Amino acid sequence: MSRLNEKLDFDAIVIGGGFSGIYAVHRLKNELNLEVCAFEKGGHVGGTWYWNRYPGALSDTESFVYRFSFDKELLQDYSWTHNYLKQEEVLEYLTHVTERFNIKDQFRLNTKVIKVRFNEEEYCWEVTTNKMETFTARFLITGLGLLASVHLPDIPGLDNFKGQYYHTARWPQDAEYKGKRVGVIGTGSTGIQLITKIAPEVDHLTVFQRTAQYTVPLGYRKQTKEEIAEIKENYDEIWETVRNSVTAFGYPDTETSALDVSEEERERMFEEAWSKGNGFRFLSHVFNDLSINPESNEAAANFIKKKIHEIVKDPETAQKLTPTEPFARRPCADKGYYATFNRENVTLVDIKENPIVEVTEKGIRTAEGEHELDVIIFATGFDAMDGNYKKFDMIGRNGINLKDKWKDGSRSYLGIMESDFPNMFMSRAPLSSFTNNPPAIESELGWAIDLIKHLKDNNLKTAEPTKETVDDWYNLCLETSKGTLFHKAQSWIYGANIPGKPFSLRFYMGGMGNYNKELEKRGFKELVFDKVPEKITSL
Ligand code: FAD
Ligand code: NAP
Repeated sequence: MSRLNEKLDFDAIVIGGGFSGIYAVHRLKNELNLEVCAFEKGGHVGGTWYWNRYPGALSDTESFVYRFSFDKELLQDYSWTHNYLKQEEVLEYLTHVTERFNIKDQFRLNTKVIKVRFNEEEYCWEVTTNKMETFTARFLITGLGLLASVHLPDIPGLDNFKGQYYHTARWPQDAEYKGKRVGVIGTGSTGIQLITKIAPEVDHLTVFQRTAQYTVPLGYRKQTKEEIAEIKENYDEIWETVRNSVTAFGYPDTETSALDVSEEERERMFEEAWSKGNGFRFLSHVFNDLSINPESNEAAANFIKKKIHEIVKDPETAQKLTPTEPFARRPCADKGYYATFNRENVTLVDIKENPIVEVTEKGIRTAEGEHELDVIIFATGFDAMDGNYKKFDMIGRNGINLKDKWKDGSRSYLGIMESDFPNMFMSRAPLSSFTNNPPAIESELGWAIDLIKHLKDNNLKTAEPTKETVDDWYNLCLETSKGTLFHKAQSWIYGANIPGKPFSLRFYMGGMGNYNKELEKRGFKELVFDKVPEKITSL
């Protein structure tokens, strides 16, 4: 191991122990031969899959592409049984990766980073943890999670509640809900999975719905050994497709607009997609314009609305479950969500019509009366993308704090770097690609780690984008989002789910293939290397 600077504690510090942190540590340690330390505030690696242990938690990226692609042997050796992965299966996989690549010891668990600061004199990052220790390193990699900063709404009276309450992303292993009167607030991807799973297990389930959701069947099923063997034989082509496609979900792109075909053919194609399953496949791979053309979007929305009315027996409940927004959120997929509302023990409360007033000792009181509950489950999502970046002081050049820089909307260069923050590389940060996550992580951190190698090989101390290149990337993101319909829905994609958060674009919407082309085209040529700080005259 050759150290870059013996005076520093480490060559690189990584924050986060999810897919991003694990990928970064592996490549920095095992390929670049750097001394790396990683901090994870949780008690285990896994990130999302450590924290989200709620009943029913499951990937909705199919198993064959919800994994790393960097190691061919890992792809061949490690297998799965069903076309989607349960929470514990992803956790096992990530644990396996840390053991297999001998990087377990690099992770310091139960250690929260509470401050980072770029030291302009020493060209290094100072990283302070909740144990009041400060460590230095040339490079800082932040894999803080795009959906990891928990959103617990401020509902009056919660402290008075005599029962138990849980947030799905902080689910305790001993959570008791079976046989009880349970209330669930939130009907996003999480709520949909949770509600469907626990309805048969509880005494009574009351679902407090603010916005009705479009969801399509997931199509969860066992995969045969032959199917899995065929996937493994064709992995090279599969990853090629993933990296060049729009969503990176492992489905081929389509050139067909929903308006190119007759109404009958459109219905047939929607029906086929409905029976195959998967939200992203339904939204982006049957027709190419559901997210951009209001007419095509409406056709898809109407198809799902019709399904809701076919599935849900009580017309009033069906109506409450029928969305009024365009079909333009991050798509959801389920194992029988709408049918769950046919159960005798499930009640749907529309909290737009009948708002929650307060939590009482006994349950939740809405404008129309009190619902007595033993347990309240918050499936209320996350302060997405930049939430964790604003939780502690991240100080770049000239004392600039990232939260101030991002107060009117967060920016980045390629979703990876920010001006005034030299040698800091983010993963799944604002203005990164809106795609399946593992391939996106490999693309963006792959680029960052190649850059670190470039710095190391050329004996350069720092790299950073200028404010102008950051603005250019934002403008390109705006351009690629033009005409998309995602801003028409009030979701986390634009920050609309968090009271007071600026409504602003948080993704590059051009697709995985085009994002990878941008990385390749730009290389490192837009970066400034070894910028001399204002107060320092020579390097
Ligand atoms: P995370 O897995 O969120 O890891 C970030 C880690 O950083 C966390 O463990 C956190 O504790 C740690 N951390 C944050 N701040 C600090 C700090 N200050 N100090 C120390 N540690 C810190 N994506 C898909 O593509 N397909 C799916 O099917 C899919 N399903 C999902 C299901 C659920 C329930 C959720 C919530 C998300 C899902 N996602 C899915 C998105 C998922 O978050 C990503 O796929 C992926 O796991 C992100 O990995 P990450 O390492 O970037 O972030
Ligand atoms: P979410 O999509 O943001 O949904 C949160 C839900 O809580 C929404 O129904 C929201 O209502 C409601 N809510 C929030 N604040 C509320 C309040 N104050 N009062 C009442 N209701 C409130 O969060 P999520 O379901 O956790 O999903 C987030 C993302 O994680 C997903 O989009 C997906 O990317 C990922 N995920 C994936 C899977 C999977 O299938 N693999 C599973 C879970 C999560 P409004 O809609 O009105 O805001």
